[in-house]
Amino acid sequence: MAYDFDLFVIGAGSGGVRAARFAAGFGAKVAVAESRYLGGTCVNVGCVPKKLLVYGAHVADELEQAAGFGWTLEEGHFDWGTLIANKNREIERLNGIYRNLLVNSGVTLLQGHARITGANEVEVDGQRFSAEHILIATGGWPQVPDIPGKELAITSNEAFYLKELPRRVLVVGGGYIAVEFAGIFQGLGADTTLLYRGELFLRGFDGSVRTHLKEELEKRGMNLQFNADIQRIDKLEDGSLKATLKDGRELVADCVFYATGRRPMLDNLGLENTGVELDARGFIRVDEQYQTTAPSILAIGDVIGRVQLTPVALAEGMAVARRLFKPEQYRKVDYQNIPTAVFSQPPIGTVGLTEEQALAAGHKVQIFESRFRAMKLTLTDIQEKTLMKLVVDAETDKVLGCHMVGPDAGEIIQGLGIALKAGATKQLFDDTIGVHPTAAEEFVTMRTVTR
Ligand SMILES: Cc1cc2nc3c(=O)[nH]c(=O)nc-3n(C[C@H](O)[C@H](O)[C@H](O)COP(=O)(O)OP(=O)(O)OC[C@H]3O[C@@H](n4cnc5c(N)ncnc54)[C@H](O)[C@@H]3O)c2cc1C
Repeated sequence: MAYDFDLFVIGAGSGGVRAARFAAGFGAKVAVAESRYLGGTCVNVGCVPKKLLVYGAHVADELEQAAGFGWTLEEGHFDWGTLIANKNREIERLNGIYRNLLVNSGVTLLQGHARITGANEVEVDGQRFSAEHILIATGGWPQVPDIPGKELAITSNEAFYLKELPRRVLVVGGGYIAVEFAGIFQGLGADTTLLYRGELFLRGFDGSVRTHLKEELEKRGMNLQFNADIQRIDKLEDGSLKATLKDGRELVADCVFYATGRRPMLDNLGLENTGVELDARGFIRVDEQYQTTAPSILAIGDVIGRVQLTPVALAEGMAVARRLFKPEQYRKVDYQNIPTAVFSQPPIGTVGLTEEQALAAGHKVQIFESRFRAMKLTLTDIQEKTLMKLVVDAETDKVLGCHMVGPDAGEIIQGLGIALKAGATKQLFDDTIGVHPTAAEEFVTMRTVTR
């Protein structure tokens, strides 16, 4: 049977664009439908605008440090409107680049909501298209718990478009998005409280990293409230918001920001017309090759809920394009040792196993840990400490995990990701000459076992 397209991709986000472009490059006839914004979450309301705001917040650190280096600055003034307008301009530029990338690779771009109407059929705003393969790359969406007053809260989607910087912000959540936004708001001058219902934020990260970041955020004056949860939110007469906690306490803020998880974006996708099944958490169930339980339908990225990061969605998109249209180049995505960063202030960089994971997996571990005041701060009054940690298998000498909290952690950890992928031993780390004077050299000069 002749189809309109070899591949119909739903969603022009990180994964969808990558799969579409490469499939078209391999000679396939490809369409992409996008209902909202080209480039998806990452470009529009995720990684990119977030990092731009983090840079903005970080300027406050540089200004604080300037006096130690002899600079006298007049009192600075921050204008949220300028930052947001400049950020929006950059996002529009990127939207254009994504459009060109798709169109120049021969992909048919359809702007509108796509709904699957059959095993090989998709409808976009009333128009039907047939395709041999359908790829669901619809991403995720923020989830706010169902509490009274939840409509008064915002999520990351709205935070990027706030008209003004709120004076007092209550950030709710313990994941990386909550921690990052708390840092942005606080860095830009808002009185910030981070509230999380668990014992300590960043579950799944190394214990030393979590504790270290907690201490550093407290040093910076962030109000951290753990074992706390909001029961209801009410608007007060003066327009501010009152959050009543389950323990009866009341907190007043101008903005309540929820980052309490993301659900898969399946709204009006037409899955009922397919044999596509969901897993226990509600994400699309796929096999190792991103095949759903319906033979002609595949899914990648946040909608499968595996590792919700842009580079992972890109790798999955690439794997699908190759498997379908260039099988001789197909390589399975390797989910081991994915380096990642949290752009908190100070930031976290991490790759490999945490100490807790290594122990749980039965490794006998040696821990090398170092805490120091970065050289850049020695001419200032700032007492921030950097943390570096290696988790090493005591029997094989293999480095199982590298973790850092401190300036440029994300940049530093990328290279260590390659070392871990290559199976580097601690001996190899020791044999590597350091780059002096840097903070990063500490990773190759830690000689004494801490535990
Ligand atoms: C605040 C925030 C910060 C983040 N920071 C980072 C970071 O620093 N580093 C990192 O690696 N990752 C980060 N992420 C995660 C990253 O953005 C996602 O992992 C990535 O975007 C997932 O790509 P995707 O292709 O699965 O989906 P998306 O990029 O979400 O793309 C899905 C697209 O599908 C479209 N769509 C949905 N349904 C339909 C439909 N029915 N018809 C047509 N179109 C549809 C959507 O409009 C969207 O454009 C962040 C996420 C958030 C929310």
